[in-house]
Amino acid sequence: MNLIFLGPPGAGKGTLAVKAVEILNIPHISTGAIFRSAIADQSPLGRKVKAIIDAGKLVDDETTIELVKERLAGEDVAKGYILDGFPRTIAQAEALASFSKTDAAVNFDIPDSSILERLGGRRVCRKCGRNFHVIFNNTKKEGVCDYCGGEIYTRDDDKPEAVQKRLEVYRVQTAPLIEFYRNKGILLDVDARPGVDEVVENFKRALAGG
Ligand code: AMP
Repeated sequence: MNLIFLGPPGAGKGTLAVKAVEILNIPHISTGAIFRSAIADQSPLGRKVKAIIDAGKLVDDETTIELVKERLAGEDVAKGYILDGFPRTIAQAEALASFSKTDAAVNFDIPDSSILERLGGRRVCRKCGRNFHVIFNNTKKEGVCDYCGGEIYTRDDDKPEAVQKRLEVYRVQTAPLIEFYRNKGILLDVDARPGVDEVVENFKRALAGG
């Protein structure tokens, strides 16, 4: 099953994706995580995108589409994938349709007030990329990832100036994808307001058709 996770920053896409991987047994592909790891490695891609990402803007379509196209050619996606954070523009969605068939686009429905609360407290593992939250889902040991022991940090683009920019970018460039996929008849709305376990149930219900 080929799935897209669509929704504003902080809606819980990455957190649900970790659970969905266990349920569906298909890989989770996060373009944001790929970029962050390129930045950590100081690779040519990382050097090219760092300032753009820190400012909360979008990496250009050409670079991002090429990255996803290459990733989707991998053998591990033969049975499907969860694309988290891609597509983010209509041009990306059209490109994706030219090289892969999407079965469903999961729309994470959440009000702005919850987004700000979630992003303000979000912490990420530098090693495995899992998300935590200082209030809703803290690590057992301060500053240490529960899963891999990696260092926990705050993303530069979760700082207030970048968050405002990311929300604006989402509204202008990414939100139109909701109608794009609704018109194709493959949009699944998921109420993303509750805690993780309930969102997982909402997700399973949506996949099962209601
Ligand atoms: P995310 O982890 O999905 O919040 O992505 C973090 C940042 O990576 C975004 O704010 C963008 O700067 C960049 N990024 C991730 N996915 C894309 C994409 N599909 N198109 C352009 N930029 C992206």
